[in-house]
This record gives sequence, C-alpha cells and structure tokens, in this order.
Amino acid sequence: MDRNARDRQLRPSKFLTLTTTEDGRLLLHNSLTGAIAAIAPAQAEQARHFLRSKAADLPRETNLEEQLAEAGFLVPIGTDEDGSAMDQYLAKYGTSHLQLIILPTEQCNFRCVYCYESFSRGAMPSEVQKALKECVARQVNLERLNITWFGGEPLVAADVVVNLQQYFSQHCKRHGIEFSSTLVSNGYLLTPAVADKLLHLGLSHLQITLDGTAAEHNKRRHLMDGGETFEKIMVNLRYLKQRTERVRVTLRHNYDRRNLSHAPEFIELMAREFADDPRFEFVFEPIGKWGGQNDSVLDVYEGKERAATKIHLQRLAKEAGFRNAYQAQVLRPNGFVCYAADPRSFVVGSDGTLYKCTVELDKNERNVVGRLTQDGKLMVDWQKVALWTESNGAWRQNSKCTGCFFLPACFGAICPKEWLDRADVTCPPEKRFIGETLRTIALRSVNDGAQRSGSAAVERGAGASSQTELAGGKLSGRPNS
Ligand code: SF4
Ligand code: SF4
Repeated sequence: MDRNARDRQLRPSKFLTLTTTEDGRLLLHNSLTGAIAAIAPAQAEQARHFLRSKAADLPRETNLEEQLAEAGFLVPIGTDEDGSAMDQYLAKYGTSHLQLIILPTEQCNFRCVYCYESFSRGAMPSEVQKALKECVARQVNLERLNITWFGGEPLVAADVVVNLQQYFSQHCKRHGIEFSSTLVSNGYLLTPAVADKLLHLGLSHLQITLDGTAAEHNKRRHLMDGGETFEKIMVNLRYLKQRTERVRVTLRHNYDRRNLSHAPEFIELMAREFADDPRFEFVFEPIGKWGGQNDSVLDVYEGKERAATKIHLQRLAKEAGFRNAYQAQVLRPNGFVCYAADPRSFVVGSDGTLYKCTVELDKNERNVVGRLTQDGKLMVDWQKVALWTESNGAWRQNSKCTGCFFLPACFGAICPKEWLDRADVTCPPEKRFIGETLRTIALRSVNDGAQRSGSAAVERGAGASSQTELAGGKLSGRPNS
C-alpha cells in the first residue's frame, strides 16, 4: 500500500465499472489498469459508497479505501488518467516490437460456407522466405517478435511454417528477443507429427475452429471435395492435450442463426473432452458477411443480438468448466485494439505483398500497403498505413469515445476497417454487456481467488497487468478460420 494514500484526497477512477453478482458481491473493473476485483457482500455497500462519492465526501483511513486505492479503483485527485491512457496507446509507435501475420500459402484444403478468401496464390517461394528472415534479422533494438501463421490454411504449406518458425525461434533465442507465435488453423493437417515439430520449435498458441457437433461442423467446414473433417480434427486436438508443453489452445466456434441452437450441446461435448485442461479455452465469433461468395444466403446476427449471443455463449462455456483467459485478456489496456491499428504490424502475403487487414487482403487498394523487398526491407506507403493506424474515433473531440469508461481497452480502434467504411465503429460486445462479462469471469476465477485469499476485502481477479498480447487475444476475434 502506498503510505501516502491516507494523506491524499482520492476520487473514483474515470475508467471504473461496478456491477453486482447474484450472491451480492460487488465486481469492479478498471480498463486503464486491467484490474478486476470482487468485494465480499459484507463490504459491498461501503465500497459502493466510496466508489460513487465525490472526493470530498470520502471517509478516510479505512482498510477498504486503502485497498481500493492500491488496486487503482480510487486515485489521488489530480491524477492524469487520460494522459496515462494515451501513453499506453501511443506505445504502439515504438520500434521495439514487430508483429508479422504470415500467409505461408493462400491455398486452403477446406471450403467453409462463409469463407471470403480468393485462394489466388500458392505457397511462399523460397526467395520470399529468405527475405522474411532478412527482415527480422535487420530489425535493430527488437525486444518482442510476434508471428502469426495465417492463410489460406497455413499447414497446406507446413514446410514453410517449419522452416521460418525454426529460424525465428533460434534468432530470438540468440539475441534475447521475446518470441511468441500463434498458428491459426482449421486443425485438419495438425497431425501428431506436425504438432510435435511445431511445439518443439516453440509454438506458443494455437487457434482451431470447430463449428458444432460432427453433423453441424461437417456441413459448414468441409474439405474442398465436400469430405468430412470433424473426427480428424478431434483426433488431432486429443493428441495436443496429451502433450505437456505450456501451449495455449483456443477452440473457436463461428456461429449464425442456423447453428446457434446446437451450441449448448456442442459446448458440453467439448467440455467433456477439454475443459479440465487449463491450456484450452473456448471463444465464439458471430459469422458476418465478410465478402465471400455465399454472403447473400448467410443468416447472420446483427447489432445488439450479435453481441448478446456472444456474451451468452461465453457464459455457457464458463459454466461448462472452461476458463476464460480471452475475456480477462481483452479487458486489459489495448485488449481490443486490432492489430491493423498497430504501425508495427503487417500481414505478409505468400508473394511478399504487405497488407494491414486480414479481411480486406487484396480486395481493396487501400489495404495493399507495401511489399517485402528481396533483401528484407519493408517498403511501406505510410500514408496508406496511416489510414489504418490513425482511423479510430478516440482522438476526435466529441466522438462517442470521448469520456468512454472503456476507452483504454479499445480506443475506438477495435476495427479500423469498420471505421474506414462508415466513419463509426461498433463497441465491443464485452463493453456493451460489461456487467454480464464480469459476472461470467467471476463465476470461477474470482471465486477461486476468494477461497485462496480468505478474508481479503478486495479479491484481485484476472488482468491486473498492463501487458498486452495483441495477436493472441485479437486473432480469436478475427472472422477467419
Ligand atoms: S468504440 Fe465504444 S467501447 Fe470503444 S472507446 Fe469508443 S465508445 Fe468506448
Ligand atoms: S478487426 Fe477490422 S480492421 Fe481488424 S482485421 Fe478484422 S476487419 Fe480488419
């Protein structure tokens, strides 16, 4: 505890959310610090009073007040919270990090009903692979490298993934660079042999999509020739579970009006297989009309229903026993900021073309922002990049983001494409349903904390760190794979 807290006048943080659980606990979230906490029912009323009072009215010298100040829910008068939020957002302009979302091939072995990709290019040629290695090698002062394997289906070109993953992991080890890597895959080609190789090379995160129980999934996510895929993916997932590495496995479920009713049965099925393993998590993404050839016949959720169904499914997964690392992660500072809004994040096509957005790819000239040269330079049109990195509404005077309690987690940059298309952006479902989101998180993680911490008035839950894992969190929100 800051010893001076008792000598200062405190006020509630402007980025604070309060809500109550069914059993009378008060749940708190601060989007500037990412802290989540629960107050026991006996002290909930007193805490609510502190957190809703004007500074001058606050009683002093209570333990509860001290704990609320320590967790950042109360701050000293004069604290520049807007300035701190801005600093966190502007960290993206530093050069100590680099994120590359690599398309090792633009081909895919599946033909999912909602897919928007054109499959126009094949595997990455060796000269582009060489240029990518050069690109990473020539980064000076690099402290963090994040690689995401995307596609098409990246494992259609598994040799490219293995070749580059090996180089990146060794390079980072040699130079003391923090390395993280995510594979976004349909899971069909992630056989035990391929999984062994990638885990050995330090793959830290996998995202694999299943769209329901076998019959539902096979209707929506089938092979090019229409063949079934569910059972093979399950076999591959079961093998991953047997491995002992600290890999995070995100199971993703894309849904619309046609398969939502099957979701409870599907969640129960997956919970029986994977919920007892804390490395597995479950995320849900409403299907959208993303530019594919079947857009006109998709029966998608829109507006508030879109957000409400996602929040509901997250609750079902938590009740079934899955942990919700994703939810706690996106409630942190920058947790919802799309990688397209990061000037140090590029999508690298299999021919070396550079893009920003993984949905637009080459469908729109504004997204074709440069190319990787043979000697590994990122030749970039910064005016185009600025369309993506500067296009959020947060900095506009009198925009809806001005004064938003969720601003540090989102900055109006959740989807620069949406902002470019219609000069507005939809708030994240977790913000629109923040009370329900916090209650879902509290279902187990905060309760577990309560059992451990016993009589503590303020139980700290997930997310008290300001660290952001941009790719890991955001890709689970991407409309692909
Ligand atoms: S988009 Fe919505 S949640 Fe995000 S900062 Fe703006 S108002 Fe807040
Ligand atoms: S969130 Fe929006 S800008 Fe970001 S990748 Fe998706 S569509 Fe593109």
